[in-house]
Amino acid sequence: MRPQELYDALDRELESIKEQKTFKYEVPLESQQGSEVIVGGRDVVMLASNNYLGLSNHPRIKEAARKALDEWGYGLASVRFLCGTEPIHIDLERRIAEFVGCEAGILHSSAFSANEAFFAGLLANDLGSTAYQDAIYSDQLNHASIIDGIRLCRGIAKQTVSRPYPHSDTRRLAAMLEEDRDKSYRIKIIATDGTFSMEGDLAPLPELVRLAREHGALLMVDDSHSTGVLGKRGRGTHEELGVFGQIDVMTGTFGKALGGACGGFIAGRKPLVEFLRQKSRPYTFSNTMPPMVVAGSIEAINMIETDPAIVDTLHGNTEYFREQIVRLGFKIIKGLHPIVPVILGEAALAQDMSRELLGEGVYIKGLWYPVVPKGEARLRAQISAAHTREALDRALAAFDKVGKRLDVI
Ligand SMILES: *Cc1c(COP(=O)(O)O)cnc(C)c1O
Repeated sequence: MRPQELYDALDRELESIKEQKTFKYEVPLESQQGSEVIVGGRDVVMLASNNYLGLSNHPRIKEAARKALDEWGYGLASVRFLCGTEPIHIDLERRIAEFVGCEAGILHSSAFSANEAFFAGLLANDLGSTAYQDAIYSDQLNHASIIDGIRLCRGIAKQTVSRPYPHSDTRRLAAMLEEDRDKSYRIKIIATDGTFSMEGDLAPLPELVRLAREHGALLMVDDSHSTGVLGKRGRGTHEELGVFGQIDVMTGTFGKALGGACGGFIAGRKPLVEFLRQKSRPYTFSNTMPPMVVAGSIEAINMIETDPAIVDTLHGNTEYFREQIVRLGFKIIKGLHPIVPVILGEAALAQDMSRELLGEGVYIKGLWYPVVPKGEARLRAQISAAHTREALDRALAAFDKVGKRLDVI
């Protein structure tokens, strides 16, 4: 294809995506991100962001960022091993590692790039072995960044074997590990999201910890949706499930509960983290997090550690919304995460309902096939500590009204 033919083909493709109703439109916000936002000149309740603790526009976070801007400047203008490293970056690495129950941590510009970095950074090295194969056991519903990380790794470290297992199916995983016993893989990694974003369900971490120990595997958990969210102290899915401190490698984001700007991390044992500091390509070839965001992320950790009430408020709001939406007659996927999937069935219904809810002052997004199984189209509500009961009630009243109008309840 010549360039013009290519652009024409892309235009046709975009048209077809619109016809299939899978085109991703972006809604312009006329305000800061928050528990309530302004859309089309109107105040609406935000139920579609990962701003679980309401820190994205919190005065303390903004103040910390402002101070860091003055003290440490706008950016570092290169990667840390070339241009130097600021103490706040080292501090955040120490703080986040401790927060998620690991020995050491390394920052990346996003969780996506942290996950991309991890597998290849670790496995594309002979580490003194001559002939070897490594195996990665990965939950089939893992986040795109884990999937891409494994793909990239297999592109670079061709001896890496990918072993996807059915979602949260620890029986099947145990059987696969058993089958592989005499294959004498050099390194085995079990990789999972801590909390899965489509259903808000938790990975069976206690069983995964047990299997990892039994088979000498490394357990890697990407807890992006639950760092700062689950567990009494907001430490994550592992705290919630009673295995805090028992995960070999934790990855996650500063772009959700911990401030919502950007940035990601890998945390684990010191030798692993220091090795990745040498070998992670996104770390060694791409700029580090800006000082403002680093300081904002540290302040987010300060806030959660010194006053867990913010986490309690999130849990209280989540419980309230889950109870009330069921009371109205909606079907949800049960659980305890602030991700609350409201099941509707057909994609068209989810689309109509999302549009009409916006008209009634609620910002919520629908998910449908192929992102979720056919016939399980849904709206995904995400609750925040910053939602007032009044705002949640307003959202619930809108659900009631639109649900009746569209014959859902
Ligand atoms: C959101 C998310 C990411 C991506 O985080 P970024 O920091 O925005 O790149 C990665 N993994 C999981 C499980 C996520 O939910």
